[in-house]
Amino acid sequence: MDIYEKAAGILLKAKKAVAFTGAGVSAESGIPTFRDPGGIWEKFEPEEIGTVPALLRTAKNNPDLIRRFLLDTVKVFEKSKANPAHLGVAKLEALGIVASVITQNIDGLHIDAGSQTVFEVHGSLFRARCLSCGQRFPLDRAALFKRAHEALDDEAGFRIENMTRILPSCTCGGLTRPDVVMFGESVQQLEEAFQATTACDVMLILGTSGVVYPAAACPEQAYRAGAKLIEINPRESCFGPIVDVFIKTSAATAMPLLMQLVESR
Ligand code: NAD
Repeated sequence: MDIYEKAAGILLKAKKAVAFTGAGVSAESGIPTFRDPGGIWEKFEPEEIGTVPALLRTAKNNPDLIRRFLLDTVKVFEKSKANPAHLGVAKLEALGIVASVITQNIDGLHIDAGSQTVFEVHGSLFRARCLSCGQRFPLDRAALFKRAHEALDDEAGFRIENMTRILPSCTCGGLTRPDVVMFGESVQQLEEAFQATTACDVMLILGTSGVVYPAAACPEQAYRAGAKLIEINPRESCFGPIVDVFIKTSAATAMPLLMQLVESR
């Protein structure tokens, strides 16, 4: 049987499937993954920007590196929009096949695509968190990008203090930071994610290398709980031994083909 037929058959029998996604699902939205060629770790060192202490150190010693990193990030994210893989996952939820999405991405593209129940375990670039009271609030994309350009575009006039103007202050008056999980910080919504994982009957794994823990434990948990696993990735990941169907191609290529079969039955 064709692998797409097999994957569609598994999805059609699912009652509470979960989509588990990583950077690869957004690669075709123009957001490079971390570890593939052209990824962020080819241009910047994790030791310089990967943790809060590293960021603070670099901000003091090499502010222009921070400016370039943030500007690079802004330019990539402002062009990105949901691709057929995100749309396919949202459609699976609308059809009552997928119950929730667990994503390691911070790009908000599953929500943009229309997915309703999304656990963003590494946070979101489009949410701020108050450093004083801890309150979280959503950020308007266009306003965020506008303020970021005002603070970062002018290389000669850049001052590290400009960074505090990118995000709005909290209603309590406190300074805020992007609500994303840096290396060494606690992941978010992990309990909800693990609950969904242990309760699911099918897991659809899209575009993740599976090396960033604890999120990467989700497929193993689902497998142990008896779920069937479908994976879409142009390269083999570490989930090979536990996956029932492996579709070795890009997510935005495979999802429309898979959805055609799911919707035609
Ligand atoms: P990763 O960089 O470790 O691995 C990416 C995976 O995606 C690889 O297995 C690769 O083969 C696969 N891939 C590449 N192109 C693909 C495509 N078109 N379709 C399907 N798969 C494709 O990413 P990860 O496993 O998500 O872990 C890295 C961490 O990086 C995550 O925690 C995430 O927070 C963060 N990250 C997020 C974004 C984003 O928000 N879009 C981007 C880069 C990194």
